[in-house]
Amino acid sequence: MKEAKDILREWVQGSENIVFFGGAGVSTESGIPDFRSEDGLYRQSFRYPPETMLSHTFFLRHTAEFFAFYRAKMIPRGAKPNPAHCALARWEKEGRLRAVVTQNIDGLHQLAGSKNVLELHGSIHRNHCMRCGNFYPLSTIEESEGVPRCACGGTIKPDVVLYEEPLDEAVWAAAVRAIAAADVLIVGGTSLTVYPAAALLDAYCGQKLVLINRDATARDNAANLVLRGSIGEIFSSLKV
Ligand code: NAD
Repeated sequence: MKEAKDILREWVQGSENIVFFGGAGVSTESGIPDFRSEDGLYRQSFRYPPETMLSHTFFLRHTAEFFAFYRAKMIPRGAKPNPAHCALARWEKEGRLRAVVTQNIDGLHQLAGSKNVLELHGSIHRNHCMRCGNFYPLSTIEESEGVPRCACGGTIKPDVVLYEEPLDEAVWAAAVRAIAAADVLIVGGTSLTVYPAAALLDAYCGQKLVLINRDATARDNAANLVLRGSIGEIFSSLKV
């Protein structure tokens, strides 16, 4: 009987329309902790739960504390793409993969060379003044202290989707379109517990739904193929 990895290899080699949908687990092998694993952010103790500190209300009411947490925990220092990011970028270049849909905000897919990246939760690399809209790069947030301020005096806010904030409608629509049209959908490194992102699986109509995760997810039963393990290692061992 064929192993799951052999089937995945065949599907990847035979497709020109793969879509990848991933989460924080895609970047743990780059040294960025996820939220819900053993050593994830939810297991570390803070004055408030991470979900509270990353909420819109907390950002408005405790802005300085938000930025202290954000600078310490949400901005990775020196993180580099791992074999999972690199394989996805290569597949896109080879014409096998159409889009990467990600819940991550770290920008590592683009650093690996992926072009069509749909960032459901925004990016740490884009920041705007809440008053005049002026754009600022990540370095402005890193190099500032306390609440980062624009030249006009307004607060600079990272373009990341905080809890209680809606997703960007255009990004969401593009993700639904890509997944609905996909031949192979590979879902990896996500606990599939953050909604509405997790509901994207429902847009897929094909028979090649692959779930790659270290822990079991609530949607394993719906998958055509489940691979349990580290996504970077699994993609490396495929040798495609
Ligand atoms: P999560 O923390 O809820 O779940 C991560 C899942 O990935 C877990 O089920 C874990 O078993 C699995 N995992 C961890 N490392 C893995 C690996 N190397 N290979 C395969 N599986 C692995 O993450 P989520 O579902 O993405 O939801 C959390 C939210 O927080 C999302 O919005 C996410 O974008 C955000 N977040 C982003 C980053 C980042 O940008 N790197 C980091 C932390 C959290």
